[in-house]
Amino acid sequence: MNLDINFQEKFEERHIAPQGQDVPEMLKTIGIESHDQLIAETIPSKIRLKSPLNLPPALSEAGYLNRLKQMASKNKVFKSYIGQGYYDVTTPAVILRNVFENPGWYTQYTPYQAEIAQGRLQALLNFQTAIIDLTGMEIANASLLDEATAAAEAMFMQYGLRKNKDANTFFVSENVFPQTLDVLKTRSVSYGIHLLVGNHETIELNDHIFGALVQYPAGDGKVIDYRAFAEALHANDATLSVAADLMSLALLTPPGEWGADVVIGSSQRFGVPMGFGGPHAAFFATKDAYKRNIPGRIIGVTIDSAGNYALRMALQTREQHIRRDKASSNICTAQALLAIMAGFYATYHGPQGIRAIAGRIHGLTVLLSKALNLLGYKQENTIFFDTLTLRAGDLCDPLHAEALNNEMNFHYAENSINISVDETTTLADIKEIVRVFAKVKAKTLADLDFASLESSLTTVIPSNLQRSSAYLTHEVFNSHHSEHEMLRYIKSLESKDLSLCHSMIPLGSCTMKLNATTEMIPVSWEAFSKLHPFAPTDQVGGYMQLLDELNQWLSAITGFAKMSFQPNSGAQGEYAGLMVIRAYHEDRGDHHRNVVLIPSSAHGTNPASASMAGMKVVIVNCDDRGNIDVNDLKAKAEANKAHLSCLMVTYPSTHGVFEESIIDICQIIHDNGGQVYMDGANMNAQVGLTSPAVIGADVCHLNLHKTFCIPHGGGGPGMGPIGVAEHLVPFLPGHEVVNINEGKSISAVSAAPFGSASILIISHAYIAMMGADGLKNATQFAILNANYIKARLENSYKVLYAGANGRCAHEMILDCRSFKNVGIEVGDIAKRLMDYGFHAPTVSFPVAGTLMVEPTESEPKAELDRFCDALVAIRKEIEAIEMGETDKNNNLLKQAPHTLAVISTDIWDRPYSRQEAAFPLSYVATRKFWPAVGRVNDSYGDRSLVCSCPPLSEYEEVAAS
Ligand SMILES: *Cc1c(COP(=O)(O)O)cnc(C)c1O
Repeated sequence: MNLDINFQEKFEERHIAPQGQDVPEMLKTIGIESHDQLIAETIPSKIRLKSPLNLPPALSEAGYLNRLKQMASKNKVFKSYIGQGYYDVTTPAVILRNVFENPGWYTQYTPYQAEIAQGRLQALLNFQTAIIDLTGMEIANASLLDEATAAAEAMFMQYGLRKNKDANTFFVSENVFPQTLDVLKTRSVSYGIHLLVGNHETIELNDHIFGALVQYPAGDGKVIDYRAFAEALHANDATLSVAADLMSLALLTPPGEWGADVVIGSSQRFGVPMGFGGPHAAFFATKDAYKRNIPGRIIGVTIDSAGNYALRMALQTREQHIRRDKASSNICTAQALLAIMAGFYATYHGPQGIRAIAGRIHGLTVLLSKALNLLGYKQENTIFFDTLTLRAGDLCDPLHAEALNNEMNFHYAENSINISVDETTTLADIKEIVRVFAKVKAKTLADLDFASLESSLTTVIPSNLQRSSAYLTHEVFNSHHSEHEMLRYIKSLESKDLSLCHSMIPLGSCTMKLNATTEMIPVSWEAFSKLHPFAPTDQVGGYMQLLDELNQWLSAITGFAKMSFQPNSGAQGEYAGLMVIRAYHEDRGDHHRNVVLIPSSAHGTNPASASMAGMKVVIVNCDDRGNIDVNDLKAKAEANKAHLSCLMVTYPSTHGVFEESIIDICQIIHDNGGQVYMDGANMNAQVGLTSPAVIGADVCHLNLHKTFCIPHGGGGPGMGPIGVAEHLVPFLPGHEVVNINEGKSISAVSAAPFGSASILIISHAYIAMMGADGLKNATQFAILNANYIKARLENSYKVLYAGANGRCAHEMILDCRSFKNVGIEVGDIAKRLMDYGFHAPTVSFPVAGTLMVEPTESEPKAELDRFCDALVAIRKEIEAIEMGETDKNNNLLKQAPHTLAVISTDIWDRPYSRQEAAFPLSYVATRKFWPAVGRVNDSYGDRSLVCSCPPLSEYEEVAAS
């Protein structure tokens, strides 16, 4: 009898899809003897790792969950009254199971292909509408990374809009959350903005102040009337940003009604767990006049080819992928899934529900305040929503100890305690808090008459600060309040979206690999989801172990000395890495080093991040074979020798090739006093075979939502930790609230010390279950799958660029530019792929007019074959146009995608059959995915921008016109 586990029970065998006979067949198609030989021909030998990764042996899926349970038991879930921007929530179960824990939602890609993304576009439009309503502003985006970075984005927008071009001072209220101020410090340094921190009532405004930020309610819980301050700023040609608490806006006059120009904040309170820091969606709302200056993604209404209501991402010309270093921000991955959840929370509860929740929170806080007053405590906030400030003086320490005894966390400042009440707080909880405060004064609950306190409660919010305007008035927020209706609404949207549940999403550079269920399950365990990011260290032992292990493992994988888990996306990792490099130079007295070399093929976030870090971008050319032009690089490095800060280089390159000269390239930069920043988006081609340290880089970010299995969530969450070589460790980001200082740490780049900590579990699980061999095999199969596709498509499409031996790395570029001769654009191919049930590869990056294909190791040969069959068939359709057999304007590609409505019309007058349009290959019939709308009209949507849910009557008008 065999007692070993079956090979298939190894996680590696589930994660890597090609099996058994597939491999020899694929090698045969490629025309190569062995998998080893393929790898040898792909990766230059001088950069190959000499020894296996130093990682613990792989665990089975069950084994991992058992181990993680033990770690989870080291996290202590105390009742959190810490507040400070993070509150416990009740995630409606219908949203938890059907969105947060549902691969139909979390495995979606960013909605660039709008026709197969109408569900999440609608959900994000709902989010924008909720934000616009609650803040009282005119326009909102579809999420930023966190409240603190949203505040920094607001500061930057205000800076860009300043009337007096010499003004460079930004006023920040001393009563904003400390983590917000921390991030503002970092971001203001790089723009050369002077931060003036103080009291808004006593500050004397002058010409140098271009804008201000205040918090509402303020950091200590006070609700302040800022009307006069807003007016004074406006009279000085300055603008006002307000960091607002979304839940409080159900009761408080929204900032849009008292003079705010920008309102930012976190939507975490709308049903998204704290997760020890994230992920959560921040919001950004402003005036319509500033729509072209807004950072991040905006969803807008447009029409499709049949004139029907359709949605798409609007005003993309602001964004980094088009505007590069001139972009309004470097945002690429944001927090789509969490924004969708917050939008659904508003949909499920509706205006009355939200008001009731906010009202209960406020009522319980008033009750607590009264009870504590009666016990003789001095509660300082006269006007508040959910947070009290207690001047407890000498009693602070005993209160602290007694609170811990009773498993509750407050927020402690010098001589004072803040208590924040949230949605989950009950009357019994309030009594427990009061009991703690009573005990310290040697009293008991019996000393208070709770019943009479309860009966005499009134709001402490004065009428001038009470909200009178309606919100969440749209039909969508007033229709889905029973669970059945909500479930069906969620499912109706989900069914419009193509995700990894349907077919491969072959996005070059974005690595849409398996997000294994075992990796995902623990993210919703309460021991991880219910922890506040500022919870005391001795309550978060499980997280500390997780962070520590992941740090060791990712350091082993990159070859670097240490990781910082603060950045919430790849782009934010870039910014963090550049700021670390900047601090390193400054520390050595090299204050003038501010030039960054960036190859022309770089991702848009590279130049956008460089400009955010206050650096000057110099573009390096690429040669005809797609490689960095080393002569040009050398010339530019030498010309800028005195000012060279660093090179940003993606490896293997965005052209899908391991450049042979990478070591020389890094050496040239070092010889000229610069550092090398490696963009780690293509790490899936490196893990276990080579590493950023081996090629000579000093710092890199890892997109954990690409290489390390965090799902894309329809445009976020992500995690972009950075790894650095030893000499840069002292400069890794610190944090104002949680001490993670490295000695010479730069200030924070994110609100939470470890970014979106809860989703680090996913990457931790992946590495633990794969082990060193599994990870190396994943890379080798990613390369095999890509070269297989290359071999299968080479006769139909020109493959741009290959390595010295004619191999691609883990992705390749298909050149579609010649089809323009017959009027076929690369976008037409992307849309036609939808009819075949596939999401398009990356369109027009890094080369315009091309498709970049990345299969990943998680796709089986059968799926690769279906995808290749589709692309070969589409090539034949193009050929028919080239041969003059088909009309240039009215054909399968130009009319794509074909909706069910189009296919089922009574009259069919097209020059091709319905069968050819909707079921072009036999496999399609068994797994048909119908695009929800016809081709969306991009320019229509930008010309008449609508970024919130339009009244239903308007849909009908559009449909009729
Ligand atoms: C995805 C990507 C980025 C940006 O990462 P985000 O997490 O989306 O911010 C940067 N560079 C390259 C090459 C990428 O593919």
